[in-house]
Amino acid sequence: MARTLIVNGTIISPTGLSAGDVLVEGETIAAIFQPGQVAALGVTADRTIDAKGKYIIPGGIDVHTHMELPFGGTEASDTFETGSNAAAWGGITTIVDMALQRYGENVQDGLATWHRKAEGNCSIDYAFHQIIGGIDEQSLKDMTYLVEHEGVTSFKLFMAYPGVFYSDDGQILRAMQTASENGAVIMMHAENGIAIDVLVAQHLARRETDPKYHSISRPSLLEGEATHRAIVLSKVAGNVPLYIVHMSAAEALDEVAQAQNEGLNVFAETCPQYLYMTLEDHLAQPGFEGAKYVCSPPIRSKHDHRHHHKDLWKGLRMNELAIVSTDHCPFCMKDQKELGMGDFSKIPNGIAGVEHRMELIYQGVVLGEISLERWVETCCTTPARMFGMYPKKGIIAPGSDADIVIWDPNSKTKIGINDKHHMNTDHSAWEGTVIDGKVDTVMSRGMIVMENDKFTGRKGHGKYVRRGLSQYLH
Ligand SMILES: [Zn+2]
Repeated sequence: MARTLIVNGTIISPTGLSAGDVLVEGETIAAIFQPGQVAALGVTADRTIDAKGKYIIPGGIDVHTHMELPFGGTEASDTFETGSNAAAWGGITTIVDMALQRYGENVQDGLATWHRKAEGNCSIDYAFHQIIGGIDEQSLKDMTYLVEHEGVTSFKLFMAYPGVFYSDDGQILRAMQTASENGAVIMMHAENGIAIDVLVAQHLARRETDPKYHSISRPSLLEGEATHRAIVLSKVAGNVPLYIVHMSAAEALDEVAQAQNEGLNVFAETCPQYLYMTLEDHLAQPGFEGAKYVCSPPIRSKHDHRHHHKDLWKGLRMNELAIVSTDHCPFCMKDQKELGMGDFSKIPNGIAGVEHRMELIYQGVVLGEISLERWVETCCTTPARMFGMYPKKGIIAPGSDADIVIWDPNSKTKIGINDKHHMNTDHSAWEGTVIDGKVDTVMSRGMIVMENDKFTGRKGHGKYVRRGLSQYLH
């Protein structure tokens, strides 16, 4: 078995920083040595990597991606191959993608389709959540089958997108009751889609068609309201674990914080775009440029009655927000975002981001918003625990998979279509952003997939990860 030693680095875990040398044997972390022990014990390896002045962190886990998702009359532009490679470039070693079941489709068929798309194509490991777009007697039974037999233990429902992925309150309650029996987590897109559709139609009737109206027609109050309703339904269903995805609004965060104070099993994630972007600076750019930043929930105004950025960073510090994911859902401008020229409601919703999550949240450390430990916790460790993959994933520890990122805090990263950009889109939503740090080396189950600014991974190296129940509750 090939042995690799990573020496002289600083290992970061959610509980602290320590000097240590990491021995990898095959696909697994075999041992961690105190400084000096390697020499004293005569430990040898086939290859030694000097990580002096650098951080050694667990591989990032992005629990919210949409590779090859059919949506908005087109399909997300990253395949599992291009998307997993871009993830590797960004220090992500596991993605949890959203398999899709739509109304009238069979759940197992939806999952099988996702396995077909991913199998043999990924350079890093992958797992699935299952979107349930049509809740009925059969799909409720299928949820339990997936938990018990397929390693899929979380289900995403939508309070948004009527006529597409939408579930009504009765359907949501039934899915939650099923989850309370089988132990699954219910993930919720919490926006009041029925009310939003009314506002969208009114803006379009007034010929307010520019991308910025995407945000104006989806007020943060309607994210707060839907979050509240989802929490109440989860309580009625017996305190079933509820995970609010891609939170963008201070009102929604208030609801989650209050539920947590009441002792409810309510969790939430946010995404980098909601921590940095604004309606004014991004969505309202001249011409059709704002289409690049159309995602749902939308990018919020900096002049809103609440300070969304400030509150979301606070939520990350306070653990009201447990995880940062990306909601990676890439579309090109040409032929894709362009579908919504003259009608913002036809712009495919989504931003490409899987490559930049570790970088953008590290910048939060540089800016003093969160600690190094919290960066690792929200991007690596908690995702593994929340979704049943710990300690195989999410931690630098003996016995864990050798998913390891060496991070250089003394280099910089310039993001942009002609700088660092490996996702399959014709633009970068983060164009020109400079990060005070850099992904130096990335290892996926013992295989180096990126080093010296070169991708060294292999298509098909990535394996499907069967997940257990959430380890916060089981
Ligand atoms: Zn999503």
